[in-house]
Amino acid sequence: MSVWAILVAAGRGERLGLDQPKAFAKLGEDPLLAEPLRRLEDSDWIDAIVVVAPPGWEEPAVLLAEELGCGKVNACVPGGETRTESVRAGLAEVPADSLVVLVHDAARPLLPEAVIERVLAPLSEGWDGAVPGLAVSDTLKRVGADGAVAETVARDSLYAVQTPQAFPADLFRRAVDSMAEATDCAALVEAAGGRVKVVEGDPQLLKVTTAEDLARIASWLEQ
Ligand code: C5P
Repeated sequence: MSVWAILVAAGRGERLGLDQPKAFAKLGEDPLLAEPLRRLEDSDWIDAIVVVAPPGWEEPAVLLAEELGCGKVNACVPGGETRTESVRAGLAEVPADSLVVLVHDAARPLLPEAVIERVLAPLSEGWDGAVPGLAVSDTLKRVGADGAVAETVARDSLYAVQTPQAFPADLFRRAVDSMAEATDCAALVEAAGGRVKVVEGDPQLLKVTTAEDLARIASWLEQ
């Protein structure tokens, strides 16, 4: 098996204000986690899946995968304190002979198959990683603690980066071992000297942070 997906779902999601972790917030009838799980399972590009669950929620995550008939799920492990620690926990379950690792945030449930295809393609052209990104359309300002604008940042070469992010497995393993923390996986590869390509992202890959995000994604699903 060659392309392994790590679905990181161990965030607490405090800004949703729910009793359960974000991955188990309701999106329509199902827990949020069901949607990205189903999409990875159905993807022609993904051979196997590791689910990184909120600590203590491994069993419900496994039951959900079984209910959905997700035969590609090979392991379900508890996540760590930070996203990077959760990625590390998932990566430990990926066998040494795998070729590619694709890391996806469960908090971005609407995962288009076309984006999976777009992030995998550059790896066969020698890139060390590929991430989906959207060109920034708002004007960006750096703002001080007192609320005063310190500078206006030129936005022409700025992208908001999403997941899924794909990397050659060996290179990714070395990058993850060599750096403590980062806000996304690509930053680990960049810090190790890797060349990461930005491909076209998708507005549907919105990350659920607030209850409004969840409601918006639910309404997109109903369309
Ligand atoms: O909270 P944040 O935006 O960093 O979350 C992005 C993704 O990383 C989410 O899918 C979340 O479940 C996951 N995460 C994790 N372990 C953490 C923090 C976040 O798996 N400790």
